[in-house]
Amino acid sequence: MSGGDNLEFEIRPNPAPVADAERAALLANPGFGRIFTDHMVTIRYADGKGWYEPRVEARAPIPMDPASAVLHYAQEIFEGLKAYTLPDGGVAMFRPDANATRFAQSAQRMAMPQLPVETFLQSLREIIAVDRSWLPPGDEGSLYLRPFAYASEVFLGVRPSMEYLYLVIASPVGPYFSGGVKPVSVWVTPDYTRAAPGGTGAAKCGGNYAAGLSAQAEAIENGCDQVVYLDAVERRYIDELGGMNVFFVLDDGTLVTPPLTGTILPGITRDSVIKLAERAGRKVVERPVSLDEWRTGSASGAIREAFACGTAAVITPIGSVKSAGGGFSIADGGTGEVTSDLRKQLVDIQRGRAEDPFGWVH
Ligand code: PMP
Repeated sequence: MSGGDNLEFEIRPNPAPVADAERAALLANPGFGRIFTDHMVTIRYADGKGWYEPRVEARAPIPMDPASAVLHYAQEIFEGLKAYTLPDGGVAMFRPDANATRFAQSAQRMAMPQLPVETFLQSLREIIAVDRSWLPPGDEGSLYLRPFAYASEVFLGVRPSMEYLYLVIASPVGPYFSGGVKPVSVWVTPDYTRAAPGGTGAAKCGGNYAAGLSAQAEAIENGCDQVVYLDAVERRYIDELGGMNVFFVLDDGTLVTPPLTGTILPGITRDSVIKLAERAGRKVVERPVSLDEWRTGSASGAIREAFACGTAAVITPIGSVKSAGGGFSIADGGTGEVTSDLRKQLVDIQRGRAEDPFGWVH
């Protein structure tokens, strides 16, 4: 099979799923990314054969030859999105088609074959159907879905692999912030950049995150929660955080966010915030913002709020900024009005508590 429509997934139920009582105990306090469901999706790819053998099977280690291309040259991409329970008991995903499209774009950048959008969506529906009992109860937790693909050819030459494995695993997660939304502190790294023009900044590939670990460690050493990257050319403009996009709220209520010029990840939350704000009549401008502008604007009041956004935490206020040249806080360092308003709007749509004007909830 190589097309995309209505694949027949072979379902091989896990013969030894986690017992009900044990699962309930795990779901009571799932944390993030440590607990996994009973199943996974696998689809193979080989040049000339296309995508084949779509399967739902027991989650298990994947045998891997030490010469598998991904272990050497890191040809790998992934996505992250959540499934959650709606008030009527149904299960929803937020804009999974946008993840499918971004996955295809990441594949193209990494010289990998593109999984058809419909196959990607179907793979998510398949794992949700078989592991539905792993959705955390209540309206705060969710099932984090992690689709990914890697180069599986056993070959040490530097060229695109001729074989790939696509998988989806799922992990129940609790509310991202247990004690409510707290402003984060961010560290502007003077030493590291995330992505240069022409690089892989817009792709969701594992290598981007490996390259960011030292910068994140530096942020922690400096007492901050998250790292902020400056652009790689002038080292002046704010690109994004390690795993979130960034927005600024000006004193007239305008939202400003760095433009998609290839060095930042085109976040689905970022796009949703822009669309929601514009629909409410708010002005949104995509333009570069320098660290200097952020600092002076925060001091003068020209910049009233700043927030980070992404799937994991939705919208998170940025309370303070630390950099080699000194630190400053944004307004009083608390959660701004526009930030909490946008957050509530977005979460209410995601959770089925508000009208969904853009048809985002699947
Ligand atoms: N930037 C980076 C580097 C990220 O890893 C993420 C998380 N996927 C985001 C931004 C936010 O993207 P999204 O809103 O699609 O989760």
